Amino acid sequence: MVIGAGFAGLAAVRRLAPAPLEVTLVDRHNFHTFQPLLYQVATAGLAPGDVAYPVRTIFRRRPHVRFVHALATGVDLAAQRVELEGAGPLPYDYLVVATGATAANFGVPGVAEGSFRLYTLEDARRLRNHVLSVLEKADAAGGRDGGAPVFVIVGGGPTGVETAGALVELLDTAVRHDRLQFDRLRARVILFDALDELLMGFPARARRYAQRVLEERGVEVRLGTRVAEVHPAGVRLSTGEEIAADTVVWVAGVSVEGTLAASLAGDPRGGGQKRAPGGRVEVRPDLSLEGHPEVFVAGDAAAVPAPGGRGWSPQVAQVAIQSGDHAARQILRHLRGEPAQAFTYKDKGMMATVGRRAAVAWLRGGLVLRGTPGWLAWLGLHLVYLIGFRNRAVVLVNWAWRYFRWPSGPRLIFGEPGPAPAPANEVERPRPGGGRRA
Ligand SMILES: Cc1cc2nc3c(=O)[nH]c(=O)nc-3n(C[C@H](O)[C@H](O)[C@H](O)COP(=O)(O)OP(=O)(O)OC[C@H]3O[C@@H](n4cnc5c(N)ncnc54)[C@H](O)[C@@H]3O)c2cc1C
Repeated sequence: MVIGAGFAGLAAVRRLAPAPLEVTLVDRHNFHTFQPLLYQVATAGLAPGDVAYPVRTIFRRRPHVRFVHALATGVDLAAQRVELEGAGPLPYDYLVVATGATAANFGVPGVAEGSFRLYTLEDARRLRNHVLSVLEKADAAGGRDGGAPVFVIVGGGPTGVETAGALVELLDTAVRHDRLQFDRLRARVILFDALDELLMGFPARARRYAQRVLEERGVEVRLGTRVAEVHPAGVRLSTGEEIAADTVVWVAGVSVEGTLAASLAGDPRGGGQKRAPGGRVEVRPDLSLEGHPEVFVAGDAAAVPAPGGRGWSPQVAQVAIQSGDHAARQILRHLRGEPAQAFTYKDKGMMATVGRRAAVAWLRGGLVLRGTPGWLAWLGLHLVYLIGFRNRAVVLVNWAWRYFRWPSGPRLIFGEPGPAPAPANEVERPRPGGGRRA
């Protein structure tokens, strides 16, 4: 059984599907979400359906793969079964837990109630509605109250950089093409990070390039600045400075706390698994749980060992894909009576867009591409990993169109605006709870 239809879970099921096994995939959503493009949904560059794909369609030609659309609330490791909300427990012979992470608040007051996360498709849809509503409100006021939209983004990693870059473009589009009337020069996008540089983890050249391009395009980049509180009127910095804002987007990091994987570690029935920073579950070199060679944790949920055994691999799509695949391979090896193998992450590089025709791509071998070449590399890679021919075609056409012309994009206000009510991956604390199954 595999819990989670993210990058890790899908990679595991794809590896297991051709084998003569009953494979059950459980997910609380009936679709896979391509998280790297959520910021495009949030800034009205793509529609929600362009970055999500139905799980049943992915495995439609795999009769041995059963999809169960349910929230997994706990794992009884001793009884080898997964507890589901609203349905009876499901037994397993082998289990891959690939439930990802969730947005981390870092204990900052007001974040949960007053800011927008960007972790799920629902988060992205809510943020898009809110952003477009703020722009329409500014237009309706006709600048009379002196109002021009102010967007605060907290977190200078790839998601923060990408969102900030896309928001300034959206402001330009709103004024130039949609003829919204507000003072564009007074509209602000402010990007905060507590560290002294953006895109930590990227080479220095890429970090400097991202900051320069964002600033040239009008983003106010404030580094070495900690946000101490989010409140209805904006944010308070640790220096005491108040920043008034219509919108606060909190993309400062992720955590595994409160998710199903964390309950594995915290539950005494789980054998008291060790936890790495961010609540990630420590696993053995083959990605199995200590004391449970039949249970694997993969992707963002796991503290996946970094190459050379120094620390842990980053929580990115490639680690998730490779670790999910590796966990499934270990199950197949175990069934064949072969010894387990240690996981080795093959780093294929990192990429982030800064805006239209501007991206940084740090490729294997140390090559750094910037500007249009970086943007084309970023585009190509995302098209390769995006699931579904229709989604790829739609996204390619959309981007090609936007490359030459500005005004495209699904700028629809549809559904409820406002911050999402609860982190989407969180589960309640677990309750006690035939042929080969994986
Ligand atoms: C906004 C954003 C942008 C990103 N951009 C990039 C990028 O550009 N490049 C990059 O490499 N990485 C990027 N990442 C990171 C990358 O998306 C993650 O590392 C990757 O998605 C992790 O895959 P996963 O399978 O471990 O978890 P996820 O993709 O999060 O999948 C977890 C799945 O488990 C399901 N689930 C969770 N709990 C339960 C439960 N209790 N019961 C049932 N189902 C459950 C969820 O519904 C979900 O489908 C980004 C992440 C975010 C949030």
